[in-house]
Amino acid sequence: MIKKWRVAAITVLLITACGDNSVEGQQALSQQEVAGGSGDTSLEQKQFKWKMVTTWPKNFPGLGTAAEHFSEQVERMSKGRLIVKVFGAGQLVPALEVFDAVSQGTVEMGHGAAYYWKGKVPSSVFFTSAPFGLNAQEMNGWLHYGGGLELWREAYAPFNLRPFAGGNTGVQMAGWFNREINSLDDIKGLKMRIPGLGGEVIIRAGGESVTIPGGELYTALQTGVIDATEWVGPYNDLAFGFHQIAKYYYYPGWQETGPALELIINQTAWDSLPDDLQAIVEAAARASNQDMLDEYTARNNAALVTLVEEHDVQLRVLPDDVLIELHRLSDQVLADLIAKDPMAKRVYASQKAFQDQVSDYHKISEEAYYRARRLR
Ligand code: CA
Repeated sequence: MIKKWRVAAITVLLITACGDNSVEGQQALSQQEVAGGSGDTSLEQKQFKWKMVTTWPKNFPGLGTAAEHFSEQVERMSKGRLIVKVFGAGQLVPALEVFDAVSQGTVEMGHGAAYYWKGKVPSSVFFTSAPFGLNAQEMNGWLHYGGGLELWREAYAPFNLRPFAGGNTGVQMAGWFNREINSLDDIKGLKMRIPGLGGEVIIRAGGESVTIPGGELYTALQTGVIDATEWVGPYNDLAFGFHQIAKYYYYPGWQETGPALELIINQTAWDSLPDDLQAIVEAAARASNQDMLDEYTARNNAALVTLVEEHDVQLRVLPDDVLIELHRLSDQVLADLIAKDPMAKRVYASQKAFQDQVSDYHKISEEAYYRARRLR
């Protein structure tokens, strides 16, 4: 099982786009036009066949299956008028070329994580997760009711892209290490796979940050290309088999506290959809977004039990003074980022204001309840 994901991820299948889809679409359109339908009616009859590329191995638990879930929902709700064929990383384009492929219209859709594109869109990091930032519940609140999604759309508009929230893993784990982390000194010289702003923090702590896609992580860690990696959490990390090559599994995931995944749609493709199909895409995206969090919530602890009890993984908490230092360095990284990029400054201001106000209430609701539940 573990091997299957790795092989699927590493293998680059050279699939040629055959282009028959659009021909069928055109035929459906022509037939309707011949039948004397108005322009609007023909659009309502037209079948759209889209391709979605992803940054995950095909059908990878949670992340990859969310893309499939979205595709199935859209097909059923539209009664086959919109078909979205999902491709795993490397099948049509490599994982880290998803953004460009959708932006350029090579394919209509992508599924991945916004922070992979921080080199093109510095503010994108906030649409995945800022270190010590929002949890999943808060992230969804900010995106859908706090102005976050509007800012995301504005940030991606120059790339002819329309983003949607495409899932959330909940708080992640800090990652897999082959050395114990007892002080910030233990991060010095550490070469770690950690994307987004978390990576910048590790650099400030004296380590090295590398961004490589999930499918290549096992080999990179096994061969010593990296010394440590963060990925997601027990459910996903067990699937990749990191316990076979790393000893210590640290928490909490200060670097990804409630990370949103993204669904991106080429804006021109989006504009070509009739209103009812756009509504179906919006509803399916929203449902898939929530569905992923539900799945991780249900499956993470069972996977953690397997890792600890069957595979003897050493579960460790990051010491408080290390977390305090990482938080201090995160604040520096954020300050430098917003000083350089006006859009990042606006997005951060919105997210930070939301976090401050929601934290006040969560202190007396979520936090107080977690504590109350433990009282006996
Ligand atoms: Ca991660």
